[in-house]
Amino acid sequence: MALSEMPPKTKPGARYEGTYIFMKSYVCPVCESKLSIPTVMTGKARMEKQDWDLRPVFTDIDTIKYDVIHCNNCGYAVLKRYFGVLAKPHKELLRKHIAENYKPIPEAMRIYTYDEALMRFKIALLNAEVRQAHDSEKALISLKIAWLCRGAKEEMGDPETFNRPVRIKYDKYDEMEEKYLKRAMELFMVARRSETPPIAGMNEIALDFLLASLCGHFGNTGDATRLVSGILQSKQSTNSQKNRAREMLERFKKQ
Ligand SMILES: [Zn+2]
Repeated sequence: MALSEMPPKTKPGARYEGTYIFMKSYVCPVCESKLSIPTVMTGKARMEKQDWDLRPVFTDIDTIKYDVIHCNNCGYAVLKRYFGVLAKPHKELLRKHIAENYKPIPEAMRIYTYDEALMRFKIALLNAEVRQAHDSEKALISLKIAWLCRGAKEEMGDPETFNRPVRIKYDKYDEMEEKYLKRAMELFMVARRSETPPIAGMNEIALDFLLASLCGHFGNTGDATRLVSGILQSKQSTNSQKNRAREMLERFKKQ
């Protein structure tokens, strides 16, 4: 069995991922096919922590994997938060540039492996590009692709124990994570200048924290410092946000 075909691992003592999932019905807005999409039950999964770039980590399940609605009949795919009626010109663009040449991907079981989820996210990104979606939407898909790569790496375990083929796969996820984090940073930067908050569900302060973290990660301390300084001066930020901004500023100064 190839690595990509392996079912998701369940950690010892963890609850089976499928217990958090139900199948939800949708109608594809492009081809009107009936869709049945694995969906995480609201309020059932417990968030353990958030990573430095806001990635939410839940106990027993990576909920990010289930964030895309995908139609395997015409190739339409979208993040759940953006699912809805499509404007006629957008529908036409999708029909012409995606549906006409779409070859169905292998159907997945009720629970997705990381590779199955990644495939659906990449189709969602292509759809966003084709229908000229906002930069913030493309940024959010890119950020979530990076998060999925991180989740895939964590599921694989300790890289020190890997044989060569497994290590190659791990390094591929690692490379992809960096590539899509960078893309998210660039697209969110453009969105920050051209769109009105909320941007991808974030207010100005939340977006600036995310951007500052991403800029810091890529060694762009100039922009990172400018962003956190803005948070410190903003009338909108709370005291705890200002404290967090001060800590980040100190860290950037040391870099
Ligand atoms: Zn469809």
